[in-house]
Amino acid sequence: MATKYIVSVDFGGTKILAALLDSKGEIVVKSKIATEARKGKAELIKRLAEIIRKVIAEGKVAENDIKAVSIGIPGSVNPNTGLIGTAPNLSIKNFNVKDELAKHISLPILIENDVNLAALGIQKYELNGEAKNVLIVFVGTGIGSALIFDNKLYRGSSYFAGEIGHMNVRKGGPLCGCGHKGCFEAVASRTAIVRDIRKDLRAGKKSVLREIVPSGKPIKSKSLAQAIKKKDKLTIKHITDASDQIGLTLANITNLLNLDLIVLGGGVIEALDKFMIPKIKEAFKKNVLRDSGKNIKIIATKLGDDAAIYGGLALADEMAV
Ligand SMILES: [Zn+2]
Repeated sequence: MATKYIVSVDFGGTKILAALLDSKGEIVVKSKIATEARKGKAELIKRLAEIIRKVIAEGKVAENDIKAVSIGIPGSVNPNTGLIGTAPNLSIKNFNVKDELAKHISLPILIENDVNLAALGIQKYELNGEAKNVLIVFVGTGIGSALIFDNKLYRGSSYFAGEIGHMNVRKGGPLCGCGHKGCFEAVASRTAIVRDIRKDLRAGKKSVLREIVPSGKPIKSKSLAQAIKKKDKLTIKHITDASDQIGLTLANITNLLNLDLIVLGGGVIEALDKFMIPKIKEAFKKNVLRDSGKNIKIIATKLGDDAAIYGGLALADEMAV
């Protein structure tokens, strides 16, 4: 039998990452384009179809050899119907991405929440199915998570499970994109860290970030990592505060769920794992019930940006396409 391929797409708020993978999990071709969510839904679908066709063409594979197209969406998704409930970063609400894309592409289409997809990828290609009860947390622009119970992805009653970023961790705290105040991601995401750093910079506090980041340019995770390397006090303070909050939140969840593994990922962790993971572990240890947290491991994923891409293969297996 000929090798069957999968096209796996990670549909992010800023970029669309697509890859062609063979059934062994090897990435044959990879490509990315800007999302440009502001241009509207029709343009989003057009760009999505375009990049899917591009990786198929570059991989020199016949359409008959493609088993499915998997798409990871940053929002609540019903994988059976293809309906997106809400995806704020894509400015989408109640939109059937599967039906719309099917007008452009005649291949089986699978859709799933992006962090759920990353969790499936991590479970199958990094953990080899070894850990049974796992929490996966991605810290970047926002904070997202996915839950695996008894080796199976837990999606929740209406596909909203894992919204760790909107747990209220500080009553009356900073305003979150969801409209509430004091959400976890409004306190400890990169967006929150950068907001607090900028406030201090405006107040005239000293920081090497003034030299690292040209004025008017965004402060990215990599710039924060550079500042930490230079022992910048201001950056150390804010990253430590965020790490403390992450450790505390993970301890609360462990007290509730008694997990055996927590996997961290996302742009912030990827750039700052050496500094942050020990601090997160310290805050975790301080706050978790000793017996609940005794055997739990906290690690950073090695799959990085590709976790959701690998998840496409795992999803195709789960849905038995
Ligand atoms: Zn929120």
